[in-house]
Amino acid sequence: MENSETYTLQPRALTSEPEFFSRMISQISKEKLGPEFASMKDPIEACVHCGFCLPTCPTYSTMGDEMNSPRGRIFLMKETLEGKLEPEDVDPYIDNCLGCLACVTSCPSGVEYGELISPYRAWSERTRERSLTEKVQRFAMLKTIPYPDRFRKASKLATLFKPIGRFLPKGMGAMLELAPHTLPTEQPLEELHPARGERRGRVALLAGCAQQALAPRINLAAIRVLTRNGIEVVVPKNQGCCGSLAMHIGAAHDARKAALNNFDAFPDDIDAIISTAAGCGSGMKEYGTLFAGEDPEILEQAQNYASKVIDICEYLDQIGFVPPEKENATPITVAYHDACHLAHAQKIRSSPRKLLQSIPGLTLLEPAEWEICCGSAGSYNIEHPDTAKELGQRKVKNLVATGADIVATGNIGCLTQIEFHSKEQPKPLRVVHTVELLDQQFEE
Ligand code: SF4
Ligand code: SF4
Repeated sequence: MENSETYTLQPRALTSEPEFFSRMISQISKEKLGPEFASMKDPIEACVHCGFCLPTCPTYSTMGDEMNSPRGRIFLMKETLEGKLEPEDVDPYIDNCLGCLACVTSCPSGVEYGELISPYRAWSERTRERSLTEKVQRFAMLKTIPYPDRFRKASKLATLFKPIGRFLPKGMGAMLELAPHTLPTEQPLEELHPARGERRGRVALLAGCAQQALAPRINLAAIRVLTRNGIEVVVPKNQGCCGSLAMHIGAAHDARKAALNNFDAFPDDIDAIISTAAGCGSGMKEYGTLFAGEDPEILEQAQNYASKVIDICEYLDQIGFVPPEKENATPITVAYHDACHLAHAQKIRSSPRKLLQSIPGLTLLEPAEWEICCGSAGSYNIEHPDTAKELGQRKVKNLVATGADIVATGNIGCLTQIEFHSKEQPKPLRVVHTVELLDQQFEE
C-alpha cells in the first residue's frame, strides 16, 4: 500500500446517518477562484456525504481510509480552497486519486467529481514545490509519451537500462519496467481514406500518441471498419497529442498547448472527431473546462471541438454498424473490460457491448468488479506503481475468472496494463481493442 503514513488532520466526523445527508455549504467564492477554477465550487456543494461512492473507489478499496475516498478528497479540497488546510498537507491524498471517476457513476447526487479534480490539480500545481525526482519524472513523461517518435526511442533506451531499474527512484524504475521490450513496426497513416461504396459521412481521426507507437494496428482497424461502413476518414497531418495526459496530472499549460495545435490541425468540414482511446476522448470532451477563463474566441473553439469528439464504438453504433454475413462463424468468448474513461467519464457502456454482440458466434462475458479501475489511469502506473500493480493484478484475476478466449477494451492504457499483469498467468490474456474484433469480421 502506498502512502500508508497516517495523516493527522481529520475531517469532521462523517456518518452514514440519513439526517447527515445535507449538501456541503462552502465559503468558496467563485469570484476569488476566477473563471479558470470556478467549476470547482459546484461539485463540492453538491456532495451530501452519503458515502455511496466509497465501495467503488479503488483507492478507498485498497488503502481503506476516508482521506483516500472521494468523500474525503472532496472535503479536503474544500478545506484547502477555503484556506483552512495547506495544499501540501492535502496533496498526497489528491495524488493518490486515479481520476477514474467511478465515484461519479455511483453518486446518487450527481456530483461531477471530474469538474473538481482536474482544475484542482492545475490550481495546486501553480504553487506546488516538487522534488527534483518528481520534476525529472514528470518532465520525462511529458516530453516522451505524447510524441510517438520520442516514445519509440525512449522505449529502446529503456530496455537497455531495465536491469538497473530497481536501483532508481520508484517512479523511474516503474517507467523502465513498464517500457515494452519491443514495439511494432511504425505504420504511418495516409491522410485520406475514402469511403467504400456510398459515402455516408466524413470524420477525422485522432491518431493519438503512445497508442500509435504501442499498437498502430488499432487505428488501422478503425479506419478499415469506418471506410467499409461508408465513412470517409481524414487523418490530419499536423495533429499531435490531445493533451489528456498533461491534463490528468495538472499540467494545464502543456494540455492547452497540445489542444490548440489540434484546433488548427483538424478540418471543420467533418461530422465528428473519432477517438480510439477512452482517455483521449474523455480528455478532449473536457476542453470546455480546460479553457474556462481563456479568450472567449478560444473558449468557443474549444467547446466546438469538444462537441465533435466521439468514441469509435459510440459512433459505429450511431451509424448502425453491420458486420458482414458469415456462413460458418467460429465460436469465441470475449470478456469486455470497461475502461474508466469510457464507462465512467463518457457513460459509454452499451455501444461496445452491442457491437460485440453483433458478431456472429461471439459470446460476451462480464467480469466481476467492472467498475473498479485496472490501475493504468494515464501515468498512474508510473507515479504510483504499488497501487497500480495491486489493481492490475486484481483486474487480471477477475478477467481470467471469466474463462474468456479474449479480452476486449476501448483504451490503450488498460490494454497494456492488463497485458502486462497477465504475463505472470499460466496463460497470458490476449487483449484487443473492440474495433479490432469488428475489423476481423471483414477478413476473408
Ligand atoms: S460524492 Fe456523491 S456518493 Fe460520494 S459522498 Fe458525495 S454525494 Fe455521496
Ligand atoms: S476518481 Fe476514482 S480514485 Fe479518485 S476519488 Fe473517484 S473513484 Fe476514487
